[in-house]
Amino acid sequence: MKILALSDQVVERVYTLASNGHFQDVELILGCGDMPYPYLEYLVTMLNVPMYYVPGNHDPRSTQSNAEGGSNVDLKVVRLKTFLIGGFGGSIRYRPDGVNQYTQTEAYLRTLVLLPRLILNRMQYGRALDVLISHSPPFGIHDDTDPAHNGLKSLNWLIRIARPRYLFHGHMHFYRQNIASPETTIGITKIMNVYPYKIIEASH
Ligand SMILES: [Zn+2]
Repeated sequence: MKILALSDQVVERVYTLASNGHFQDVELILGCGDMPYPYLEYLVTMLNVPMYYVPGNHDPRSTQSNAEGGSNVDLKVVRLKTFLIGGFGGSIRYRPDGVNQYTQTEAYLRTLVLLPRLILNRMQYGRALDVLISHSPPFGIHDDTDPAHNGLKSLNWLIRIARPRYLFHGHMHFYRQNIASPETTIGITKIMNVYPYKIIEASH
């Protein structure tokens, strides 16, 4: 399945590419947080495919605002064709009043919400997840040591127990020229920073 995954930054070129049919064989849009919702809504309208996203630490509370035409899959699992797709929004807490920010402990507690569905999936489909989308990277993988960019340890744990084929995340703005956005493989999971956008041919 061909996936267009995006995070953190509006890329003007994406508008042109979308209107030129460059993404016409894309079957799914995944938003990894911190993008203006009109950007996602534009892409859904242009490509006319399902869109799932998770909120980032600069997005509004899910109860206040959502991207039309898509589904917020924070702490949810959806099934599209044969793919099981889960979401985990937010980042590490670095401001006491920050929205979509969690301490490591709070993030662990959030994973418990996903657990029953992961167990059911394993019983029903023989696997818990195929794709996990998050805003934050896992701890120690593509993350940084400054307070706002520590990865979430709960994501390392989710990778261990759910064993998705892919984890797509954002939050880490990777500016260095001539170096591809980082990809790391842990077990069977390919961890990819999709900032600012990436096309992935996902397989089981
Ligand atoms: Zn962020």
